[in-house]
Amino acid sequence: MEPKPMEYRNLPPRLAGLAEIASNLWWSWHPAARMLYKNLDRQVWKESTHNPVKVLRELAAEALTVAATDPAYLARYDAVLERLRKELAEEDCWCDEKISVPVDYTVAYFSAEYGLHHSLPFYAGGLGFLAGDHIKEASDLRIPLVAVGFMYPEGYVMQHIRDDGWQESVDQTLDRDATAITRVLDAEGRQVVVKVPFIEPPIHVAVWKVDVGRIPLYLMDTDIEANDPWNRGISERLYIGDRELRLRQEIVLGIGGDEVLDTLGVHRSILHLNEGHPAFALLERIREKVQDEGLSFEEAARQVRNTSIFTTHTPVAAGHDVFPFDLMEKYFRSYWPSLGLSRDEFFRLGVNPADPRAGFNMTVMALKLSAFRNGVSLRHGEVTRRMWQSLWPEAAPERVPIDSITNGIHVPTWIEPKMELLFDRWLGPDWIERHDDPAVWENVAKIPDEDLWKTHYWLKIKLVDAVRERVRQRWSRDRISTSKVLAGGTLLDPSVLTVGFARRFAAYKRADLIFRDRERLKRMLNDRWRPLQIIFAGKAHPADDEGKQILQRVYRMAEDPEMGGRIAFVEDYGEQFAQYLVHGVDVWLNNPLPPFEASGTSGMKAALNGVPQLSILDGWWVEGYNGKNGWAVDGREGTGDRDGADAAAIYTLLEKEIIPLYYRVSQDGVPHGWVAVMKEAIRSNAPRFSTRRMVREYLDRFYVPALQAVKEWK
Ligand SMILES: *Cc1c(COP(=O)(O)O)cnc(C)c1O
Repeated sequence: MEPKPMEYRNLPPRLAGLAEIASNLWWSWHPAARMLYKNLDRQVWKESTHNPVKVLRELAAEALTVAATDPAYLARYDAVLERLRKELAEEDCWCDEKISVPVDYTVAYFSAEYGLHHSLPFYAGGLGFLAGDHIKEASDLRIPLVAVGFMYPEGYVMQHIRDDGWQESVDQTLDRDATAITRVLDAEGRQVVVKVPFIEPPIHVAVWKVDVGRIPLYLMDTDIEANDPWNRGISERLYIGDRELRLRQEIVLGIGGDEVLDTLGVHRSILHLNEGHPAFALLERIREKVQDEGLSFEEAARQVRNTSIFTTHTPVAAGHDVFPFDLMEKYFRSYWPSLGLSRDEFFRLGVNPADPRAGFNMTVMALKLSAFRNGVSLRHGEVTRRMWQSLWPEAAPERVPIDSITNGIHVPTWIEPKMELLFDRWLGPDWIERHDDPAVWENVAKIPDEDLWKTHYWLKIKLVDAVRERVRQRWSRDRISTSKVLAGGTLLDPSVLTVGFARRFAAYKRADLIFRDRERLKRMLNDRWRPLQIIFAGKAHPADDEGKQILQRVYRMAEDPEMGGRIAFVEDYGEQFAQYLVHGVDVWLNNPLPPFEASGTSGMKAALNGVPQLSILDGWWVEGYNGKNGWAVDGREGTGDRDGADAAAIYTLLEKEIIPLYYRVSQDGVPHGWVAVMKEAIRSNAPRFSTRRMVREYLDRFYVPALQAVKEWK
């Protein structure tokens, strides 16, 4: 197959760079780059769901010819292209000043999922967006990093809600040629295919690449002819339920991923594991040192440990893979001798002392073989130290060597472009370059209340329009029932105080908590003068029936006429709708059961855009809440009924504080008290909960010390 740019038959030479820009996801966080495609043809842009590759493939030649002779368009085109090329060519790493010797310091970052853009559906939820935002930030900070993950050709599961409110999944096969993905080719021009070492019968993976600014993300795909049918399905979809298939998936991710980097000749000295799924990569690094450098297992493990970072993301037990020993034996029998280990020694790497018979625990292995370990918020750090105390029985709980680095979001990705313009004006034109500096955000105070409010209100209208447009299409195209049209948000009103709740429907997130006392909620929804409306979105994992039941309960509320059309459920939550939602609602609701929310990141996206939180004190909000930038729910003091107490605390906050504040509008039409909370949310949360702050912490606290270890033995 031809490389992609050749396919853009209509592209005039003067605009050849549009193919170059489209091929690098850099466009996704640079509005000026996106505008180049949008301005060619707004309708095609919309139909492409904001995907430059599709625009170039589908656009009529005429629009391009016109653009190629429009001086204003060409000037913007030239500027964007120059900026892209300049940024990609820059050599100096932000970290250079911290590393005195020229060791090859590439970080290999492994993750089972990446949330980058909705045109690349390789994600399930927060873990994926964290990984995507991490590598975008590594690009911005010019940190040398390569990322490894899976292709998931069937990964895109569209959510449809049945008439009875039950979630159904509609599989959609990814059109690889309609997104910014390229085949990685060898010297002969054939796609690189790698055999996963030591696994019989053999598994092969084809290698694809997504360019994320300066960062290459290599994606493995097992759906190729070299594999037998069973193996072809390994990378079919995310988080397969079947234990054996799941194990094979993780073998491919960790061991195959490492082999891919070797095959491509990528030198790297640091390994960063995003969650335990890719932890077999640690074993593969050790095996190479044992076999190629002749080291003992102990010495090889010591070197690998001192250069490996393991980030754990959840206190929920199901988030930590444990494989039965007999299954491990089946796949690793020929592997452990190559490490210089006996069967027992090998198994001990994955045994949880608190539950030794459970099986081989990926998190335990990752904790044992990485010297740098962290949870993803201060609170999650504490919870994780307690959770794994049995691995360090001699240590007091607070001394368990697991650190924390609080999550953040990639600011250029999640700032809404209109809001960005407002910030450009009042925070200084270079605010985005210095956005992790709290001093920059003191200038939020200067933004006139009216301007911030108008911008926000405009975004809320956009959100409501987008919701209605979705149901309108479903109605006219798919003939869904009128009650579903109403449940989908037809009656939403932008003037009404709007609460947003969107995330995965895992049980601990308690999506239906707000319906705990239906009468009390109904009074607020149906208040004649000061009503409330709530927009829900999110998917349950296809195998999670409990999550689907919660979703069904929420959906039935959206359909219930007694709720007055003020509850909406928007189907098929993904990156694109998340953008509308975190930009456009008035309040971001989060009410998980503590301590299960490790961090949460969607609320950070909302806060950046001036949307305050109404959230349980768990995850990042423990650090984020300051008494003036939103509301903290803490129902702990109540009875033994935690759900009831938390729900009551939410109702009381809504009735006594949030609703009155929102509707206290001055003569000039602006709710100044409300805008003060919006401003405080931006000022206090934006710099801290950014991936700029986060990745710099990983660099200072983990990557640089890990490099010191490399220096030692080089
Ligand atoms: C940010 C994001 C998430 C993660 O949200 P949490 O608050 O961490 O649960 C999930 N899905 C999408 C589409 C997102 O953009």
